[in-house]
Amino acid sequence: MTYSYDQLAQWDKQYVWHPFTQMKDWLEEEIIIVARGEGVKLYDTEGREYYDAFSSIWVNIHGHNVKELNDAIIDQLGKIAHSSYLGYGNIPATLLARELVEIAPPGLVKVFYSDNGSTAVEVAVKMAFHYWRQCPNPRPEKNKFLTLMNAYHGDTIGAVSVGGIDLYHGTYRDLLFPTIKVAAPYCYRCPFGAKAGQCEKECEQALEKAFAEHAHELAGCVIEPVIQGAAGMITQPPGYVKKVRELCDRYDVLMICDEVATGFGRTGALWAVNHDGVSPDLMAISKGLTGGYMPLAVTLATQKVYDAFYGDYAEMKTFFHGHSYTGNQLGCAVALASLELLKKHNLVTEAARKAGVVKKVLAEFNELPHVGDIRQAGLMVGIELVRDKLTKEPYDWQEKMGIKTCLAARKKGLITRPLGNNIVFMPPLVSNDEQLQEMLEIIKASIIQVT
Ligand code: PLP
Repeated sequence: MTYSYDQLAQWDKQYVWHPFTQMKDWLEEEIIIVARGEGVKLYDTEGREYYDAFSSIWVNIHGHNVKELNDAIIDQLGKIAHSSYLGYGNIPATLLARELVEIAPPGLVKVFYSDNGSTAVEVAVKMAFHYWRQCPNPRPEKNKFLTLMNAYHGDTIGAVSVGGIDLYHGTYRDLLFPTIKVAAPYCYRCPFGAKAGQCEKECEQALEKAFAEHAHELAGCVIEPVIQGAAGMITQPPGYVKKVRELCDRYDVLMICDEVATGFGRTGALWAVNHDGVSPDLMAISKGLTGGYMPLAVTLATQKVYDAFYGDYAEMKTFFHGHSYTGNQLGCAVALASLELLKKHNLVTEAARKAGVVKKVLAEFNELPHVGDIRQAGLMVGIELVRDKLTKEPYDWQEKMGIKTCLAARKKGLITRPLGNNIVFMPPLVSNDEQLQEMLEIIKASIIQVT
């Protein structure tokens, strides 16, 4: 049965409540209904094609409709789609866990499955909190988290609590557990008033001060390493992640890294923490885990954390947490196939090389009068639009410059989603040089048209 666009659009508007969407706007818009994908392109119900320049909300790695990934799911479907992970193992989940431990930063040796990035963070936060209650020398007073302002770790209550973007988190303040918040690096608009390139690493000093003051009550420190995605692709100065590791070691605090967005080669290294050569105690991964095919997430833990939950049942050390779809067989099967493709095509090294191509093209954006800052970590890019380049005066959010620019890009055959005044460029890792250039040309033309 096929349905007309008009019919589908009407039903969408009648029945659906879209995420992160003002539905009043949605009802007034001419909406796009994605019908299929092929490589790095998406096609709508009307047959129009678009570059998927934000990897379908940062998840896609190998492009769409990839034979090897399709086959992995079809093959698994012929066996079983899902079985309970509470009380039973399954083949793809076991193989994937083994594979993930092999490629994870050293020391992360245990895999705890869930289904989305928020939950992977939620699990890490619960594990860290719980850890201090039953580690060999319990310290239940260590029950708080040090977090960064502008952080985004997802939308469940624990993940929102450790986040720090007022737009998403402010409303729920009374519902959240309090955290110790430290200003995050943002070199273009340094929260400490320092000038980029001439600073005394005030951001690290602030971190150090917070650790020194609060170590006695800190269970963990949660960060998005190297780049804060939803904040507007805000990159951290080199060495910042290493500093967090040092402070966590010095003050006996668990380091929790949220690699939900940065994992699987996005930043030009398999994991963002690799840039600083550190390993966290807990690490949340999701998005790219299945190449963008299925909802799946993992919280990786060290032996030390795992051991704190290990004992006789009567000791009541069990981590009582799990979901109906934990360890989903289809998700794990496609994740295995995705990792194989990642290796086969050397995609992480390729992503680092392609980042160089992107950087060169982006350098031309600096000439544009309303491009204030361009931030890049591998194939994660944020282009910050400003009203006044000299004073860095931002556009008012009501002007919707990010949204307008992305709408202009859509008309030119490219889909991405802005973060306020920041245009996000985060293409699938398989995008070739020509495609990357063409995508950036469309974005540039759209910025020129709108600003
Ligand atoms: N953590 C980070 C760094 C993210 O960027 C996101 C989503 O954008 C999440 C967590 C939440 O992931 P999910 O949307 O799968 O719940």
